[in-house]
Amino acid sequence: MAKPTVIHWFRLDLRIHDNLALRNAINEAENRQHFLRPIYVIDPDIKNKIGINRLRFLIQSLQDLDFNLKKLNSRLYVIKGKAIDIIPKLFDEWQVKYLTTQVDIDPEIVKQDEIIEKIANEKDIFIVRRVQHTIYDVHSVIRKNNGNVPLTYQKFLSLVQDLQVKSTIDILKSISDHCKTPDNCCNDYNVPNLEDFSIDENTLDLCKYQGGETVGLKRLHMYIAKKQWICKFEKPNSSPNSIEPSTTVLSPYISHGCLSSKLFYHKLKEVENGVPHTMPPVSLMGQLMWREFYYTAGTGTENFDKMVGNSLCTQIPWVKNDVHLKAWAEGQTGYPFVDAIMRQLKQEGWIHHLARHMVACFLTRGDLWISWEDGAKIFQDYLLDYDWSLNAGNWMWLSASAFFYKYFRVYSPVAFGKKTDKEGLFIRKYVPELKKIPSEFIYEPWKAPKSVQITAGCIIGENYPKRIVDHDKIHKENMQKMSVAYKVNKEKKSLKRPR
Ligand code: FAD
Repeated sequence: MAKPTVIHWFRLDLRIHDNLALRNAINEAENRQHFLRPIYVIDPDIKNKIGINRLRFLIQSLQDLDFNLKKLNSRLYVIKGKAIDIIPKLFDEWQVKYLTTQVDIDPEIVKQDEIIEKIANEKDIFIVRRVQHTIYDVHSVIRKNNGNVPLTYQKFLSLVQDLQVKSTIDILKSISDHCKTPDNCCNDYNVPNLEDFSIDENTLDLCKYQGGETVGLKRLHMYIAKKQWICKFEKPNSSPNSIEPSTTVLSPYISHGCLSSKLFYHKLKEVENGVPHTMPPVSLMGQLMWREFYYTAGTGTENFDKMVGNSLCTQIPWVKNDVHLKAWAEGQTGYPFVDAIMRQLKQEGWIHHLARHMVACFLTRGDLWISWEDGAKIFQDYLLDYDWSLNAGNWMWLSASAFFYKYFRVYSPVAFGKKTDKEGLFIRKYVPELKKIPSEFIYEPWKAPKSVQITAGCIIGENYPKRIVDHDKIHKENMQKMSVAYKVNKEKKSLKRPR
């Protein structure tokens, strides 16, 4: 009879450092002298479900993981199919006795996990799931708050302030020969490349952020070495439109689990220890806490990524406007700052947090009056760091649908970018049609006299679009609509309250 197998199922934990579930699997395989098979299940239809840049980042991360596992005397088995079909099949085919994985909070994954767990129970397969995508066990934070989701950041901080964050587990050195799987007949399980999904890499934009644990750790160490920068870090003072990022761009690594958020936390603690430093919400540690905050809210709220059926979300009568949505998504609104941000997002897969503020406000309550759900879907496609709870939570914030209620504070697509980039260098890079427009008109090219447009080689309405809305006029109308929506929601809530 063939040797039984222990599986570690990688999901949002594409790393070997600080991976307790992987460590558990290795220990179990070594103790019982079973095979260890680290797996990743990839949907063959993934190309139609996530943006191409993110798919490339994922593949690079899997290649790096396979490489790192091979150094440990193991390898990664990538299996094409849907987890719900694949995992039960493997249970029989590989005589699985034990499976470890990371706890996920995405409702669809939670449902899938319940089904798989039921099948495993019937077959006497032991499943171990570890919280390792967040710093805290967000379920226990909610329990500490009497079963309620903390609705403000300050409340969240007060709940976690006395929680111990266990130290991270050290990097694995090697896996014993006993549990090494035979390497023959395993080519079917090799990490796929873009060609396997009929994507020609040469047709893609240049890869600015390479996926994988190795690059993620290197990037972390590079920032952790900048101690003064960390101690003075204030998010609102970082620039949304600098050519090189003004924040860490660790988010794609954290969201794929190439980098442990807990490791990041401990490294920041070491830097902050005994020296003056900025504090949450603006500090770098504060940013990690925002992540935990949204994870907690997402875990405890039904339909968190939807407007209807979401108890946190104000119901706002957004409109459908596919023409405006497309113009926004493709960076063709006629507002150069908005367009530059959206084109950077589409090309590189990452934009600064305040740039996200700008375009999310513009799409929703600021200008286009389109639902945050539509914006969130486009972000899901384009972002390398797409994360279910962070995306939905931040979109609700920006559209003043939840967490943030000062809907009258609208970002100006003209004034906001000028604060940190008067000459419009960022715009010139991402909207090259406007490259030669004089600085005084770079944020408002429609104001440039025709002669200036001709000299700059960019006629508005021909080489670059006219504005799709008039911000000065429309944002005031939208504020009125927000005020009405807030009133209606308040009345509905008071009717629902028991008398
Ligand atoms: P840094 O400033 O260097 O912060 C360090 C880490 O803290 C980040 O890597 C990230 O993990 C976390 N973090 C920072 N800001 C936030 C925040 N506001 N909320 C939650 N966590 C935060 N972030 C995602 O990771 N995935 C998303 O899908 C996502 N969607 C967003 C949608 C909108 C509309 C907005 C306004 C923000 C969104 N964010 C999302 C949050 C934030 O913009 C990014 O996490 C941040 O810009 C990543 O860049 P960084 O790594 O340089 O951040």
